[in-house]
Amino acid sequence: MLRTAETNYTEYILDSLTDGGRRMLPFEVHDGGPIDAYVNHGRWVADCVCNGAELVAPDQEMLCGSCGARNTVKFPGPTTRDKLESVLLQREPLRQNWYPDETVDELVAQNIDHGIYPEDM
Ligand SMILES: [Zn+2]
Repeated sequence: MLRTAETNYTEYILDSLTDGGRRMLPFEVHDGGPIDAYVNHGRWVADCVCNGAELVAPDQEMLCGSCGARNTVKFPGPTTRDKLESVLLQREPLRQNWYPDETVDELVAQNIDHGIYPEDM
């Protein structure tokens, strides 16, 4: 399984943002709709509209550690996510990358281009 945000990650970010009350930032949900999760170097992440990026998990909103905004995050469904992860986990971590415009078949084709064949071939 690829790395996601820990269940207490939002609290961790909140603690680091408030830092004893010295760095209170605005906490608000952006109006632009959900932001897309993507895979970068074996981690599920998402980019805030401020360009800050955080680890994310399917069942959590993303609290941006750069600007303090709360973002809802759009993940692929569980079946697609499982397929994506099984293909990506055949790669070394630095090559475990996926963007929402890529299909599972495209990832498989990329693997084959690099000599990594599906286990059922
Ligand atoms: Zn932000």
